Amino acid sequence: MRKRCQIPRNSVLKRIQGYFRMLCASSDEYFFATDIVENIVMLSPNMVTDFGMPAEIFMDMDAEWLPRVHPDDYDDYIKNLHKEFTPEDNMHDVIYRVRDAKDNYVWVRCKGQMSFGRDGAPELFAGIITPLEQKIQADANTGLLTKYQFEKAVKAALVRVDGEFPNGAMLIFGIDNFKIINESFNRRFGDMLLRIAADAISNVLPEGVMLYKLDGDEFAIVVPDMDEAGAQSLFETVQRSFCRPHEVEGRSLFCTISAGTVLYPQGGKDYLVLHKHAEAALDQAKRDGKNKNIIFSKEQYNRWLRSITMRDMLQDSIEHGFEGFSLFYQPQVNARTQRLIGAEALLRWRSPKGRMVSPMEFVRILEETKMIIPVGRWIFETAVKQCKAWQEKWPGMRISINLSYEQIKESGFKEFALECLKKHDLPPYLIVLELTETAIVSDWNNVNTQFQEFRKMGISIAMDDFGTGYSSLAYLKNLACDIVKIDRAFVTHITEENNEFDRQLVKSTIELCHSVSIDCCIEGVETIREYELLRDFCHADSIQGYFFGRPEAPEDFEQKFFVEPENPYLAGCGI
Ligand code: C2E
Ligand code: CA
Ligand code: CA
Repeated sequence: MRKRCQIPRNSVLKRIQGYFRMLCASSDEYFFATDIVENIVMLSPNMVTDFGMPAEIFMDMDAEWLPRVHPDDYDDYIKNLHKEFTPEDNMHDVIYRVRDAKDNYVWVRCKGQMSFGRDGAPELFAGIITPLEQKIQADANTGLLTKYQFEKAVKAALVRVDGEFPNGAMLIFGIDNFKIINESFNRRFGDMLLRIAADAISNVLPEGVMLYKLDGDEFAIVVPDMDEAGAQSLFETVQRSFCRPHEVEGRSLFCTISAGTVLYPQGGKDYLVLHKHAEAALDQAKRDGKNKNIIFSKEQYNRWLRSITMRDMLQDSIEHGFEGFSLFYQPQVNARTQRLIGAEALLRWRSPKGRMVSPMEFVRILEETKMIIPVGRWIFETAVKQCKAWQEKWPGMRISINLSYEQIKESGFKEFALECLKKHDLPPYLIVLELTETAIVSDWNNVNTQFQEFRKMGISIAMDDFGTGYSSLAYLKNLACDIVKIDRAFVTHITEENNEFDRQLVKSTIELCHSVSIDCCIEGVETIREYELLRDFCHADSIQGYFFGRPEAPEDFEQKFFVEPENPYLAGCGI
């Protein structure tokens, strides 16, 4: 039984106790001496405080120490400790991780020596334990080796053998939304999650592959002889181990993981380049919606570089009074009368180099960086002013404004919108808000509450890009809206002879909407055949598409619709 005790008179420890105390007083290292016969250990006082040991002198050190050794280092440690000591082979020298009094794993080097009694039997085992924190930089929370050792490991993996450059893969993992989790709970919770993540990844790594902890929420591995398929399949294994809720401090937390992979030598031949490329791929994985692995390629990297540069330029534009941003307007007409009923405001941005950039390229960046919040307000106000100005020329004309999910989440937007309508003296019923990217909406209750309030204010709500997500019908059930905009994807093939299915699908969707008093606007109508079919067979309410007009700057829009409506299909619009 382990217990605090006195040193027996006959113990070898008695003989060395004086020296032992002198040693302890003169160094910061940890000392131990064990009487093998009595199984009593004598420890330096700092071991009691730093490792939470029961006392300076007690029985059965193994029972106390072994449970503190890191599970991954346990076998090595035991092998070294329980070897057959002989006078010729009497040293114990092992590096391992052990849990300290604060529950952190620290790397230590333990060097001990066995001495033998007159009868030749082991008598005293004594030595020094040196903390290696500074030398090998273990991560205090997870106990994993850190970026410094990772760098060394990568450099070692890149050494030529027989003149051949080796091949393999470097993967950097990042926990998705870690920052949000950390901010929403607390640091301790975050630390715990990192430890769980470290275990989850370590447990599925192939034999001999070491996991390293980089900064923040990132982990890394380097695997020799691994190709793209191997890296992807390894990632999927890691991903699966994250696919269940993790118990953190009594809460059940579900989180996902992303990764960036770079293969060597294709993706780089030295550590810095490989690291940079893997980080860029990881960043891309997060921007692409997370929970995925992106494999570095030159094209992918250049795309990433462009988006980084664009982000800075967009920020600059915002800081300079939304310089470079403008709104284009695309007509929406009544499907039966062809009469202009409104226009959708579509954002444009001219880069400092003078290139007109498509919103497909930059809206996502605005959303990711939340820059869409100030830009969204600018869009709303600009569109409201435009709508007001056009009322004189075309009374009742409505403007549809795109709204990102990020903007709905921002609680102040509603008040801003109301203020803005008041300021410019525009009746709310002339504004339609289109909810884009419905696929990512996670809290329908909140969205619906917000929309109900907009509707109470008199603003109409449209659900954009209907049919592009997997469960649009389910969304329809959830969302209280006035208009559904059916995506262009459904129109493209609608006139093809053998495409009865698409025709019926659009027709039935419209019928379904009509049965619950929702209007249907069809987007992307480019030809007269599409138009006529949508009008006569499908009974669409309104049409938006190149056939009636492309998005244009306000001056061009005015010229076309208010000054000289020469387009014969807009005859009904006539002034
Ligand atoms: P969206 O809201 O679905 O806008 C309709 C897009 O379809 C526009 O592209 C328009 O030019 C295009 N389009 C319209 N008719 C036709 C047609 O007949 N044929 C073809 N091929 N295309 C047609 P655009 O302006 O490039 O905008 C792309 C997307 O960017 C928008 O899709 C919307 O999701 C987003 N976006 C644009 N402006 C804003 C904005 O102010 N705020 C937000 N949050 N997103 C915006
Ligand atoms: Ca839209
Ligand atoms: Ca759309």
